[in-house]
Amino acid sequence: MTELLFHQLVIVWICIALVVFPLALKVTAPYGRHVRKGWGPLIDNKWGWVIYESPAPLLVLYFFFTGDAPKSNAVWIMFSLFMLHYMNRTFIFPFRIRTKGKKVPLGIVASAFAFNLVNGSIIGYHLGYLQNYPDTWINDPRFIIGLLIFVLGMRINWQSDNTLINLRDSDETGYKIPYGGFFKYVSCPNLMGEIIEWIGFAIMLWALPGLSFAIWTAANLIPRALDHHRWYQKTFEDYPTERKAVIPRLL
Ligand code: NDP
Repeated sequence: MTELLFHQLVIVWICIALVVFPLALKVTAPYGRHVRKGWGPLIDNKWGWVIYESPAPLLVLYFFFTGDAPKSNAVWIMFSLFMLHYMNRTFIFPFRIRTKGKKVPLGIVASAFAFNLVNGSIIGYHLGYLQNYPDTWINDPRFIIGLLIFVLGMRINWQSDNTLINLRDSDETGYKIPYGGFFKYVSCPNLMGEIIEWIGFAIMLWALPGLSFAIWTAANLIPRALDHHRWYQKTFEDYPTERKAVIPRLL
């Protein structure tokens, strides 16, 4: 595929995210606490995670090692960070969450699978075939600032996911009000951290594929955070009033 065609396709994919975003603000994604009937047969929640996240790390791995683009140290770092995130999300996180007996609808599995298929292909093709970051990219302010933002986002994401996991004993499935860390400011610091992470990645890549990934992540996770926030406010009478949904003091 030519670089021009690839970039045109990525722009179309970004436009789809911009259409999906307002729709996602209206329709609550039916998984986790919002699971409900009407989205197809239900399958085990943990295996759902493994199935629908798998295309992202597998495709990036495939394109990275089959592609003939030069692999400078900067590219190896970007590839490794992507893989670190997705090895956790696909193969570790699902077996740490405490969701005994919980299910996810096939409709969510299929749409998340498709989402990861496209996003994994875009990032993988860019890193494997198209990019040409020189060795000096590692000293470029865009790379350094993006890397710092990525690490910050990953830290917030992992720390907040851990707090949520530890709210339950291994057999519990109910919900409690989370406290500590960035939960002081927002209901969903795990989702906020994930958005920050991919903004950092986009800055490191300084290319359309990274931008596309960050836009899609925000288009998925801002609506989910708003849904969670409303749910917390409705469910717990003593829910902290100063908390926002996903952006401290703002949203
Ligand atoms: P949630 O915050 O909805 O849930 C995370 C886990 O914590 C679930 O196991 C959930 O259980 C449990 N949990 C959440 N809140 C509570 C609570 N108050 N009390 C007890 N347990 C709780 O996150 P998501 O499932 O939406 O996402 C998980 C991770 O995946 C996040 O880090 C997110 O950033 C990432 N993600 C990334 C996407 C992307 O587009 N890049 C898309 C979707 C997710 P239960 O399932 O029973 O609700």
